[in-house]
Amino acid sequence: MYAMTDHDLRAEILETARAMNAHGINQGTSGNISARIGDDFLITPSGIDYDACTPDDVVRMSMDGVPEGPQKLPRKPSSEWRMHRDLLTIRPNAGAVLHAHPPFATALACLRRPIPAFHSMVAIAGGKDIRCSGYANFGTEDLSRTAIEAMDGRTACLLANHGLLCVAGSLSGVLKRAIEVETLARQYCIALQVGEPVLLGDAEMDDVLDKFSTYLKGLDDGADDTADEGG
Ligand code: 13P
Ligand code: ZN
Repeated sequence: MYAMTDHDLRAEILETARAMNAHGINQGTSGNISARIGDDFLITPSGIDYDACTPDDVVRMSMDGVPEGPQKLPRKPSSEWRMHRDLLTIRPNAGAVLHAHPPFATALACLRRPIPAFHSMVAIAGGKDIRCSGYANFGTEDLSRTAIEAMDGRTACLLANHGLLCVAGSLSGVLKRAIEVETLARQYCIALQVGEPVLLGDAEMDDVLDKFSTYLKGLDDGADDTADEGG
């Protein structure tokens, strides 16, 4: 496995953050992205425009939530660092976590409406629907707790009145998953405007999930871009 340096992984986190905004799944300084590195994780700084960031602005934290290492500027880690840390802790194979405020996924989250099995691609989140968490204020332990409940056995969920949360093996994988979930949310909202979408049944979704055990598996494979301290 290609081992990325701390600096290269910081740069890739920023590239991914800029890409999520360019893809329209997030706006401005909202959202945040983290990636595992060795026993620690790197996370975007709080409230700073990604275009204005350099790799040194990305914050390195230990799993007990302590910022690590020398930094050019004393940036604050994302206010959602607990949610990222907690997810990376309970998913030892996960390499990256992404939180965003995509317009359609967030609209459904404000209705506290999960995305049901209206399309086989909902299986990209690991189950027969894409759940919506309970509500908690941003940046709190309560939000982390309710998000982790909604993520049980899953790789993506909506966050009530807030946005989207995704996990994957790598930064490229987590971005692809987030784009797909937002696409599903948009398709579901469009279908709802015309009528009541016909949902796939349990047996049909069992077949889909069976295929997904190999289809798009790359999203969750061990990251070749979120490794440890090589180079
Ligand atoms: P940060 O800028 O602190 O990462 O917060 C953005 C956000 O989306 C909070 O939920
Ligand atoms: Zn948010």
